[in-house]
Amino acid sequence: LRELLLKRRAEILHALCSGGSVEHLERVIDMLLAQGELGWEDCQNVLVPGRALYSNARQLLDLVYTKGADSCELFFNAVKQVLPEALGDTFFLSGCHSTLDYKEKPQRTSTEELLTQRPDLVLKLQGCIDGALRVLVESGHFSPTDCDGIQLPIYTPSQQARRLLDHVRSKGESASLVVLQYVQQSLESESSLEQTNPKFVKYQKKLRSSVSAQSRFLSTYGGTSHMPLDDIYTEVQMELPNNSADNYKSMGFEEIIGPVGSVNDDADTVLASGEAGSGKSTWLQRLHLLWSQGKALQDFLLLFPFSCRRLNSEQRDLSVQELLFQHCCWPDRGQEEIFQFILDHPHLVLFTFDGLDELKQSFADEHRICCPSQRAPVDVLLFNLIQGSLMKGVRKVVTSRPEAVGPALKKHLHKEIHLKGFSLSGIDCFVRKHHSDPNEAAKVLESLQANTALLGLCHSPVLCWIVSQCHKELLGCGEGSLQTITDVYLMILQHFFQHHSTVKSAMGVNWLQENLGTVLHLGQLAFEGISNSSYIFSVTDMETCGVTESDICMGFLIQSKDMSLANSKCCEFLHITLQCFLAALFAILSRNTGCSAISKLFELQEMKKKRLRGTCFGACLNSTNIPNIVKEHSTMAETPNLQITATFVSGLLSQRYQKLWIQCSSSVLVEKKTKQAEKCLSKGMQQHFRSIPQPVQGEKKSMHAMPEFVWLIKCIYEMQNSRLAKDAMSKLEAEHLKLTYCNIGPVECTALAYVLQHLKNPVGIQLDNNSVGDVGVEQLLPCMHICNSLYLRNNNITDEGIHKLIDKVIHLQNFQKIALFNNRLTDACTKHFSYLLKTRQNFLSLRLGNNNITAEGAKQLAEGLKFNRSLQYLGLWGNKIGNEGAEALANALENSESIVWLSLVGNGVGSAGACAMSNIIRNSTSLEELWLTENCITRTGVESLTQALKHNHHVKSVWLKNNDLTSAEIEEMQQTDSRLVF
Ligand code: ADP
Repeated sequence: LRELLLKRRAEILHALCSGGSVEHLERVIDMLLAQGELGWEDCQNVLVPGRALYSNARQLLDLVYTKGADSCELFFNAVKQVLPEALGDTFFLSGCHSTLDYKEKPQRTSTEELLTQRPDLVLKLQGCIDGALRVLVESGHFSPTDCDGIQLPIYTPSQQARRLLDHVRSKGESASLVVLQYVQQSLESESSLEQTNPKFVKYQKKLRSSVSAQSRFLSTYGGTSHMPLDDIYTEVQMELPNNSADNYKSMGFEEIIGPVGSVNDDADTVLASGEAGSGKSTWLQRLHLLWSQGKALQDFLLLFPFSCRRLNSEQRDLSVQELLFQHCCWPDRGQEEIFQFILDHPHLVLFTFDGLDELKQSFADEHRICCPSQRAPVDVLLFNLIQGSLMKGVRKVVTSRPEAVGPALKKHLHKEIHLKGFSLSGIDCFVRKHHSDPNEAAKVLESLQANTALLGLCHSPVLCWIVSQCHKELLGCGEGSLQTITDVYLMILQHFFQHHSTVKSAMGVNWLQENLGTVLHLGQLAFEGISNSSYIFSVTDMETCGVTESDICMGFLIQSKDMSLANSKCCEFLHITLQCFLAALFAILSRNTGCSAISKLFELQEMKKKRLRGTCFGACLNSTNIPNIVKEHSTMAETPNLQITATFVSGLLSQRYQKLWIQCSSSVLVEKKTKQAEKCLSKGMQQHFRSIPQPVQGEKKSMHAMPEFVWLIKCIYEMQNSRLAKDAMSKLEAEHLKLTYCNIGPVECTALAYVLQHLKNPVGIQLDNNSVGDVGVEQLLPCMHICNSLYLRNNNITDEGIHKLIDKVIHLQNFQKIALFNNRLTDACTKHFSYLLKTRQNFLSLRLGNNNITAEGAKQLAEGLKFNRSLQYLGLWGNKIGNEGAEALANALENSESIVWLSLVGNGVGSAGACAMSNIIRNSTSLEELWLTENCITRTGVESLTQALKHNHHVKSVWLKNNDLTSAEIEEMQQTDSRLVF
């Protein structure tokens, strides 16, 4: 077993830590503690606060290994309990017990019981921390300060439970007894609910099993096979704005609904936003499933799931009661009682609304209602529920695309989290889960590694699913041939046709022509749906577009589970992006759609500006041939679907695909549509450039790109039209491109580089606050030769990304500045910067604030600095370089004639470091500003700086706020030199 532990070490570590959350590790430790296998001291040695999760996990593995085979066995069993699927069945030896065997021990004291029942207690206490703390305070065991320490919002509910248990242990036997009795009582009161209110409990069971039935399988597999969500679910990355420390790790549902990152404590609605295909519905489905299985959110006795897509078809006015019971779960008995229970216990109830962007009406909070029995149109009910005038206290979780979230909605949000798709390890994990054959998975992953543009696309779960689903086509089509999103969707189109092809041999080159009927029927349905914000189609809708049974069987459409249309057979597309893709195919291939339909797709922004009302592009269809589902006006929320459709149109009209259309449509018409799309894109870009304001005197001409700019760039990339890119870029005169907060991920980086590489003059590229990541950095490399400054603050970049970047820019003389504040860099990146500094004698600015650089990293940087004659700005704010690091830097910069600005704010620098800094002040001829705020410098350090300043007239200020100085010292020292800022 010890050997097995060694052999599988990497795998176990990955399983325990890959989600980024310490929960799995802590649960394993709970079990080992409970079994007496670990002691408290062991525990402290393993869970060292502030140390990386992986290091803690490694420590545990080492410990278990040292303790011997018995320990290893208990460890394996604990891992299996915590992560039943993570390591596969083969992992465990047949002799291993699969359930946890607590060591038999007569239990004498409550304190001992607290320990042996720890895993269980952690679970039970999570939902009732408040109550447990209350009884501990009432019984005099805890002070309010004890409670505050336990309930710090940085802790997840399970961590709070553990802290509570640890604290109780230190308070002795009677405190332990209080906790055990409290937990026992709450369990009893739960079962007494069953006795006093049997109808409620029956309803709860019915609701639970209906939620479970709806959420157990993933719908994208509906057409082909059933995939249990439990088997395929892969954690997605999340970003909690205003809480950069936790960004990109995945959070548990308790944490998401809890107080961490709250922007409005009065509000009850948590919003999860993300692009189409980023995994919002699946994430919500997971929430439903875990609740129904009793694995999460057990504080909520009832959970009501709604789909906004389905609510669209509710024409009647409803009361809240009718909404809950008719759209979610019907109580067989005691409706009034059950509803009264909901009204009386709002905090025990959770509502979820999936896809707010798909609701026909945009969010508005004008029409207020507050009486739960009042009937109103469903959208009005929904908006009142979200903003809390109805059913205050009931928690709501809403998902939406970002475009549909305006300020009116934002002010009613408890918090907003952004779903960011899969991480690199998430992609890996998903592909392995998707393929039961490990060799197949390995091949898919290998081909993704070989094609980073495609790997970038796979951060989006829907694309990752397609790529995995089409692995045969993927492996058959040759490396690097899949580049664009359109390529991937054409692949799935072909895949579905292949799957249903009656001729079992490979499909002919005319595969599209052979299936043209289906494409046109489904395309028309999709196209009309997009233009009318319809995502669910009745039998009549399908008949009108000529959709036949065999078209439906192809797998693009799945049966809709619309409750209010229970009797009719309604369908929806597997995913909204697939609907957009088929709509785009229709726009190109249908002889009844002309060029005007194409230009309408690209003219959105202008349309919005002019506030044109009326049908958007439905009017462009030839109305004699295509019956129009009448639409009153277009809402902002549908813009994204039109934009996705336009992106696909651009891709499909690429020269690379012209041959495919020859047999399927009029080539003259397709040619015309191509010209039209090119014209629209080029006009769109010019319009954007015209809006660049004249620079303020002394500043660079700067363009702040709007999200539409990124969309236009993506269209040009999809088209793979470098002439268009060149033309557009020749007209851009800005010296600085600002693309902050534009939702730029690896895919957008690929497109940006494709277009920006044609710029005439070097520019600064500012991409702060996006999700570029390492893959995105790699995608940007082709345009680095025209980049003089690269700003990538807060972008989830690691040392790996930096390595690739520096390998490229080391040879590019234009590249002079880089800002990487708040990424995931460690000492491992500093050797690359050091190399850059040594090699490039015109490099000006290096900012590495808020990363994880220690003294070792600073020493590496110093090595490079010794040989550099050009660097003017060096920012290391918020790292951990300490005195040793500061001394190394000072040593390297002592005689610098270039450094102007140096920041070591918040680096644990003490007086020794400050004394070293004095040497730079003394000898450097260039330094103007030195930032030493938030360190631990004492009087000795400041005196040394003061002495040095006496001989220096270049330095303008030395910042020393928040150091270890008394106010008397500050007052005194302020007198000595006015350049010292305290
Ligand atoms: P959105 O609601 O953001 O448009 P979906 O949740 O519908 O995205 O995701 C699209 C598809 O991507 C899903 O049907 C599924 O195949 C895949 N997918 C999304 N999220 C996950 C996940 N967390 N784990 C596994 N597959 C996922």
